[in-house]
Amino acid sequence: MENYILQDESETLDFGGKIAALIKQSDDSIFEFHLQGDLGAGKTTLVRGILRALGWDGSVKSPTYTICEEYDFDEFLILHIDLYRTEIEEDVQMLELNREFAGKKIIFIEWPEKIEGKRSFNLKINMMHYKNSRKIELIGDTILLEKLIRKDK
Ligand code: ADP
Ligand code: MG
Repeated sequence: MENYILQDESETLDFGGKIAALIKQSDDSIFEFHLQGDLGAGKTTLVRGILRALGWDGSVKSPTYTICEEYDFDEFLILHIDLYRTEIEEDVQMLELNREFAGKKIIFIEWPEKIEGKRSFNLKINMMHYKNSRKIELIGDTILLEKLIRKDK
C-alpha cells in the first residue's frame, strides 16, 4: 500500500494526469479503478483530472444522480459510476460494464463498497480528508503502483 498527500485541488488533478499517462502507455485495453472516500474527498475531482489529461475537454459531471456518466472519445470509452444512491445490484448490471469496446475501456466506480468483492480492480484509491488537504492510499496492481511511484520521484 502506498500513501500520498495531495495538498490542494490542483495536486489531485495532477495526480489524475499521472494515472492518465499510465493508461496511455499501457498495452492493456481495460482498466478499472475503485474510488473510496467520504463525500467531498475528491473522487470526482480525480476522475476529472484523468479525463482532462486523456484529452476530454468537455465538462465532467458527478454521476451522483445519473449513476453513470459515459464518455466516448478518441480511442476511449470511459464509464464513471457513482453508487452512492443505489443499493440494487440490478442497477449495476444495467450499466453493462462488461460490454465489448474496440479501444481502451476505463471504468471508475465511486462508492465501490456497495459491490464489495463483486468486481476486480487494477487500483483502489482511498481518499481521506486530511487537514485542509487530502490523503490517499493506493491498493492494487503492483506494476501500476510501481510506475506511479517511479513517476513521482
Ligand atoms: P467526491 O466525489 O469525493 O464527493 P468531489 O471531487 O466532488 O468529491 O469534491 C471534492 C472537493 O474537494 C472539491 O471542492 C475539490 O475542489 C476539493 N479538493 C479536491 N482535491 C483536493 C485536495 N487535494 N485538497 C483540498 N481540496 C481538494
Ligand atoms: Mg463524487
